[in-house]
Amino acid sequence: MNEGGIVIIGAGQAGLQAAASLRESGFDGPVTMIGDEPIPPYQRPPLSKAYLAGKVDAAGLFLRAPGFYVEHRIGCETSSMAVSIDRGGRRIRLGDGREIAYDHLVLATGSRNRPLPVSGAELAGVYQLRSITDADRIQEAIGEARNIAIVGAGFIGLEFASICAARGLCVTVIEAADRPMARAVSEPIAAFFRETHEKAGIRFLFGSGVQAIEGRTGRVEALRLSDGTACPADLVLIGIGVLPNQELAAEAGLRVEDGIVVDPVLVTDDPSISAIGDCARFPTRFAAHGVARVESVQNAIDQARCVAARIAGRPAPYDAVPWFWSDQGGHKLQMVGLPLPGDVSVRRPTAGGFAVFRYRDAYLTGIETVDSATEHMAARRIIARGLSPTPDEAADPAFDLKALAMGRGGA
Ligand code: FAD
Repeated sequence: MNEGGIVIIGAGQAGLQAAASLRESGFDGPVTMIGDEPIPPYQRPPLSKAYLAGKVDAAGLFLRAPGFYVEHRIGCETSSMAVSIDRGGRRIRLGDGREIAYDHLVLATGSRNRPLPVSGAELAGVYQLRSITDADRIQEAIGEARNIAIVGAGFIGLEFASICAARGLCVTVIEAADRPMARAVSEPIAAFFRETHEKAGIRFLFGSGVQAIEGRTGRVEALRLSDGTACPADLVLIGIGVLPNQELAAEAGLRVEDGIVVDPVLVTDDPSISAIGDCARFPTRFAAHGVARVESVQNAIDQARCVAARIAGRPAPYDAVPWFWSDQGGHKLQMVGLPLPGDVSVRRPTAGGFAVFRYRDAYLTGIETVDSATEHMAARRIIARGLSPTPDEAADPAFDLKALAMGRGGA
């Protein structure tokens, strides 16, 4: 023992949950979170939803009240960057030169926005959205903006697009694929949201890329698109995915492959180091190739709980069912499982909206729902239990999904 207790690098969704779950599990030793952001852990999902829409303020984003950390004896270092790991000596070094000893280290470093490698990306008026600081800057700029261009029709880009459209702004979304959320959702879901957004006045340019971002006197004025045309813009949001923050682990000699590689109990190559959340690549029965890196609140929370339970003496493999949500244009999209873009889609009407069941080789890989919370909850159980109603059953609104989910058979 070097009396360092548990040190967690990254004070985000996963890091906070690991610290809180350690205490809930009865772990009594020192727990220290190291975070490079200037404020304690907060939720990111509202940044592209209620927070930017002005429906929740910054105080409503914090994951715990200020007194929580003292009360639970959790050290929460803000504005502190971990710059290296000395695995032999079981110490980490911070940017200010301090060293902190650990018995077990949890890497919860999250991910960062993928940069758009074109000229002009540094111009004023060009944004990415990851932190509360980013959201505040965008919020300030939006008041002056008229033409909004969004690069990437992923979840964050589309959530932002619908907020801007609701404010009466002129919104163009530029996307390389032929439909929105192409990597993440089925064609029927993509078509539904395309229509919803178009009805709200959002213009899509599919099959289109960005050659350059152009401006004068340091401020953006237009995007030069791949076909040479110009798309006028006084505010640009780039939302083209994220990269895992894995460099610290790689420099310490841990295995990384688009994420820090962990085993079924979320331990890295080094038995004294775990990795959780957006930064971790883990084995899972839910993924086509048996491994995945998942960027979601569910994944961050459940992996943190799994690691805390192991540290507290109750080890178990990580086996939580992956689920995700997005709010766009007044609709709630919820997804369970990890289907691939080529998986077959079977549509099912629901009381509030519709569901899409995804199949690969006649086996159910995921269920997507729109405005159908009850079906989503049933879907979580169905996927978790590895059940696979036939495509005909899935399409039949009379087939009792809830009964199937609860283990009471079909219709
Ligand atoms: P993070 O929450 O990103 O935390 C990692 C922290 O570690 C960060 O604060 C980072 O700065 C810090 N860090 C990194 N390196 C170091 C270092 N060396 N030293 C110290 N600190 C370091 N998910 C959903 O499920 N549903 C949604 O609707 C949804 N919407 C989203 C909307 C937005 C705008 C964003 C940005 C994300 C959204 N997500 C959503 C994703 C979700 O927020 C993430 O999957 C989740 O936050 C991951 O948690 P994490 O702890 O792994 O990473």
